Amino acid sequence: MNLDNCPRCGKLFAKNFRDVCPVCIREIDNEYQICADYLRKYKGAIISELSDQTGVSIKQITKFIREGRISMVNAPNMSYACESCGIPIRESHICETCRLRLLKDKTQMLQNAAKKVEEAEKLTATKAAYKGLSGYKDR
Ligand SMILES: [Zn+2]
Ligand SMILES: [Zn+2]
Repeated sequence: MNLDNCPRCGKLFAKNFRDVCPVCIREIDNEYQICADYLRKYKGAIISELSDQTGVSIKQITKFIREGRISMVNAPNMSYACESCGIPIRESHICETCRLRLLKDKTQMLQNAAKKVEEAEKLTATKAAYKGLSGYKDR
C-alpha cells in the first residue's frame, strides 16, 4: 500500500487514483455540488461571486474549471486568473499577452544560446589562426 500525506488536510492516507484523501474527495465533491447548484440558478455569476456565495475558495473553483467539471459554456461570465499576471481568462493556464511574452522570452533565450555558440566558435577560430601565425613565426 502506498501511503502519502493528503495535500489538502495533511492526513496520512492510502494513495488512490485521486491525489487527496477520501475525506477530502467527499468534501471537494460536496463543494462542487454547491457550486454547480449555484451556477444552475445564477448562470451569469462571476468567480468571486460564486466563491463568496458558496464559501468555496476561488482556487478550488479554478480547479473545477480546469478539470472540466464546471463548464464555462453554461457560465458565460465565469473566468479565472491567468497564472502569470492574474487577469481573468477563460481558457488555458495563461492569458494571450503572457503566452506571447513567454514565447518571445523563449525565442530570445534560444537566440542568445545560438549567439554564444557562434561566439565560442569564433574564439576558437581566432585562437587557431593565432596559433597558425605563431607557428609560422617560429619557423
Ligand atoms: Zn485530506
Ligand atoms: Zn497573463
